[in-house]
Amino acid sequence: MATSRIETALAGAGQTKAVVSGVGVLDRIGATFVEYLPGMRAIIVADENTWEAAGPGVRDSLRAAGIELDEPVIFPGTPVLFADDAMVLRVRDILAATDAAAVSVGSGSINDVVKNASDMVGRPYLSVCTAASVDGYTAEGAAITVKGVKSTVTCRAPIAVIAPIDVMAAAPSRLTATGLGDLFEKVPAGADWLVSDALGVEAVDWDVWDLVQGPLQDAIADPDGLRRGDLEAVAALSEGLQMSGLAIQVYGTSRPASGAGHYFSHQWEMEGYGRDWAIPLSHGFKVGLGTLAMCALYEMVLGLDLASIDVESRLAAWPTPEEDRARVEALQPVSIIRESAVRASADKYLSLDAARERLETIRRVWPELRFRLAQQVIPAAEVEDILRRVGAIHHPGQIAVSLEQLRTKYFQAQTIRTRYTILDLLQEAGVLQDVVDRLFTPGGYWYERPPEPRWTDAS
Ligand SMILES: [Zn+2]
Repeated sequence: MATSRIETALAGAGQTKAVVSGVGVLDRIGATFVEYLPGMRAIIVADENTWEAAGPGVRDSLRAAGIELDEPVIFPGTPVLFADDAMVLRVRDILAATDAAAVSVGSGSINDVVKNASDMVGRPYLSVCTAASVDGYTAEGAAITVKGVKSTVTCRAPIAVIAPIDVMAAAPSRLTATGLGDLFEKVPAGADWLVSDALGVEAVDWDVWDLVQGPLQDAIADPDGLRRGDLEAVAALSEGLQMSGLAIQVYGTSRPASGAGHYFSHQWEMEGYGRDWAIPLSHGFKVGLGTLAMCALYEMVLGLDLASIDVESRLAAWPTPEEDRARVEALQPVSIIRESAVRASADKYLSLDAARERLETIRRVWPELRFRLAQQVIPAAEVEDILRRVGAIHHPGQIAVSLEQLRTKYFQAQTIRTRYTILDLLQEAGVLQDVVDRLFTPGGYWYERPPEPRWTDAS
């Protein structure tokens, strides 16, 4: 079952030809390399931690297959390798000085750096996953901080991915918790896609939908097993993560795998929040909290009666482009974020005529859309329970974010991307402020959460 899902996804993916997943598959790396990169030399890129986890096994398998190897590139384990443009250029220079294809041995950062650098020299590469921590292994793009701003750089996905479940299960449990956080967002992200579909903004591609949403329930079903490093649980999470990246390849954008819950994380990432911590605040930790934030919001949204919004009174208060720009600017104090948020928001600004049509569509589709959303989203209390059990962040206090700061994130998240989400619908309907405020007042989800101490690494 697991394999056939991946095969279906690979058939539609343009770039990745194979995902070799299972216990003990490190020794299949050599054969996989020969199959997809015949005649090429190899150069392993790792850091001290990932080298220790899998490096020698990777090297031995490549050697056994008769592949000639350059000296491996092993970056320090501490501080944790940071995926920025300077690091990409360093690896690009190393690759430019050889004709070897890179074999990245690591998780998010190493894979992203090697992906981007390999793309720059126009050479395919092979990715060996050492943790079930991100969905980006198979994605067509790399998360790189460029000139201080976290960005998604378009570049070719790996030609083949090796997912040795035994190695991934032995990774620090915080990395697995991070992977669950990243994957979990596909729940509210799916809801955001349903919203866009219902409003005629961006139709759901149901084949791609199945690739992501199909394995999702199994992948998040056993948070305790994930925390313990249970092989079956990690295999299910890994499959969900790989499928998610492949779905991005098939679809061509990250829509199938990323919605407003991810935007909370993008906002923190652009602000550089937690980047300089001893253990830098991971993507999946922020996304997991964004997932919970959005599921709490969706729970309130399901109680709204948007079929009866008063179109005329909303249009009477419709902002001019200048007023809307001022709103966005006031929400984004950091200039570089402000500039891109102003551009993204201007892109999705609706003229009065378009606004009338949109509001009437919302009224018309709401009863059915509400029903579909109720099938898709998970109650916030359940989301919190899963995040807590896997050891992920489930309260802003754990990452030194106040409730007031979290409240602001809802509004900021609405401004930074053109991709349509429930936050846009609520903004257009004129109820975003009210719905968010209710989450933070007595009876609201966030108001009622007891405070939590700062997160510390228990893995
Ligand atoms: Zn992500």
